[in-house]
Amino acid sequence: MSQVILRGSALEKHYPVKAGLFRRTVGQVRAVDGVDIELRAGETLGLVGESGCGKSTLGRLLMCLERPTGGQLEILGRNALSLDGRSLRRLRRDVQIVFQDPYTSLNPRRTVGDIVAEPFRIHRDVAPRGDIRRRVQELLDQVGLNPEHINRFPHQFSGGQRQRIGIARGIALNPKVLICDEPVSALDVSVQAQVVNLLRQLQRDLGLAYVFIAHDLAVVRHISDRVAVMYLGKIVEQGDEAAIYDRPTHPYTQALLSAVPTPDPKSRGGEGQIVLTGDVPSPADPPSGCRFHTRCWLAQERCSQAEPVLEARPDGVGLHASACHFAAVRV
Ligand code: SF4
Repeated sequence: MSQVILRGSALEKHYPVKAGLFRRTVGQVRAVDGVDIELRAGETLGLVGESGCGKSTLGRLLMCLERPTGGQLEILGRNALSLDGRSLRRLRRDVQIVFQDPYTSLNPRRTVGDIVAEPFRIHRDVAPRGDIRRRVQELLDQVGLNPEHINRFPHQFSGGQRQRIGIARGIALNPKVLICDEPVSALDVSVQAQVVNLLRQLQRDLGLAYVFIAHDLAVVRHISDRVAVMYLGKIVEQGDEAAIYDRPTHPYTQALLSAVPTPDPKSRGGEGQIVLTGDVPSPADPPSGCRFHTRCWLAQERCSQAEPVLEARPDGVGLHASACHFAAVRV
């Protein structure tokens, strides 16, 4: 088994809620609330859940764009939370990000060459000045773009091509980890497949590890080795891709998967669909006990009183982690 290169333990990100004339803190939004997560070299960890569940905040914590309010973060064997600014900047080379929206994440007034060269300007010791243009052209070629288009502007590219520009910028510093935050959500389905295939190719060529954040479970299955399902700031189920998709034991995962269209409507979707009622509760005031109990069709009295622990539970074939008092495979 390959080495763990990123490890978050009991990670928390709480934002203060301010109110009144003197902007007093009256509460906390628990965007990420006690997450244990590991990423191994060369693997893809899919992070799924409805919008607002905390997955993008977790992604930003993992690449040190935001500092957690609690917990530990180890990157490449180093305690990322104890580093000074210079050491942190050096460490950030190894963990880069690709953002969701290729339309807003690229500065429209800068050429593609400038955009992809940006990491080299921040980390000046990576490539000599005279080499940057050649290196940018290599990167454009690597992501399937014409290196001769280096002087074009973002609006001269399609959505899929713009996301390739974002990926070229993401891999410029030869990182070990790429946090992909909804990288294909804004793209057409046919273009999504091309971008996912590009990411898989780059992973093979460069040995990258991905945290792949998305709400589309079909896309996540296509690319992930392991999958973590988030609900209201916590991971509620985690395991190998096959265990999560074929033998989910948490009712929330089962509901999400039942809504994924399949070619065989009898297997999932169609009449087997579990419809979740109600909105996701506010992370400023999460429900007691199991946070999912206000929407769970299997909830019992115990669920609102005791919080279930995320731990290995039987899934019919082996064990994988689930945070439910009544975890079971339900066909
Ligand atoms: Fe549903 Fe109870 Fe399991 Fe929570 S612990 S997911 S409320 S059955």
